[in-house]
Amino acid sequence: MEEYKEIATPARTKAILDKYRLAAKKSLGQNFIVDTNILEKIVHAGEVDERTTVIEIGPGIGALTEQIAKQAKEVIAFEIDHRLLPVLKDTLSPYSNIKVINQDILKVDLKIFQEEYLKDAEKVVVIANLPYYITTPIIMNFLESSLPIDGLVLMMQKEVANRLSASPGTKAYGSLSIAVQYYMDAEVALIVPKTVFTPQPNVESAVIKLTRKKDAEVIVKDETVFFQVARSAFVQRRKTLWNNLQVAYGKEPEIKEKLQVALDQAGIDPKRRGETLSLKEFGKLADALVEQNLVMQNNQKN
Ligand code: SAM
Repeated sequence: MEEYKEIATPARTKAILDKYRLAAKKSLGQNFIVDTNILEKIVHAGEVDERTTVIEIGPGIGALTEQIAKQAKEVIAFEIDHRLLPVLKDTLSPYSNIKVINQDILKVDLKIFQEEYLKDAEKVVVIANLPYYITTPIIMNFLESSLPIDGLVLMMQKEVANRLSASPGTKAYGSLSIAVQYYMDAEVALIVPKTVFTPQPNVESAVIKLTRKKDAEVIVKDETVFFQVARSAFVQRRKTLWNNLQVAYGKEPEIKEKLQVALDQAGIDPKRRGETLSLKEFGKLADALVEQNLVMQNNQKN
């Protein structure tokens, strides 16, 4: 019998790419993993078992998909690149628990997806070696959706992983840390060397594990205001909260007065910088601003 070789080896990956005359597309963030050891660690971090339905983003030529399929009940994988469909059909043929959907993950209606595919799912985990050019929108779409996700294990640029898991007072802490940590506990599970990819990316990589918080850390009156305030506090990182809030809400005397009342109510010194505020403090501030009926004038995205 022919010896079975895993997809994630340099030799097999090269053979697959040669067979289909494929070159990795940089524009789609295609960096394929050629190290089974790393893949096993990723699946392990996802605590995947025979009850688990895994959603994968970007299966590529199937290296990670294969390792997930060995442990999971089923894998549903979204791949945007239609060139990879015949490849995946071939490489994943030994597995009967994988469904590949040829769709841009950012265009998937997650509500319809949930109704169609997750009705009977007991435990749902998202696992991916993400296309780095759209890491943040992918994560936020999943977190803001109503999908019953228990956790996410995601490979991304190390610098982004550090931002997601950053604590207040650190350089990496910002509105992305707050947006993610509002929903999930975040920890860096693995630092991954460039050498496990082909082609090798230009940046360092890390795997982050996001686990749903058992109890909400902050409960706010208006989530939109909470996220707006968190964003506005970092628009000019080096400036004080007072400065950034005035840029966002306005500099008119009556607005300044209300801002001052809100900060007092929240017990926050206006001279502090946004990067020193905890999630709870942002929550208190957002609620106090709502109470003052303040409406943001410059709702800048960063
Ligand atoms: N999972 C494979 C691995 O680990 O070797 C490939 C990972 S590669 C970093 C990212 C994959 O995401 C590629 O297969 C790419 O085609 C796919 N991709 C890029 N943009 C996408 C999108 N918007 N929706 C779905 N898949 C996408």
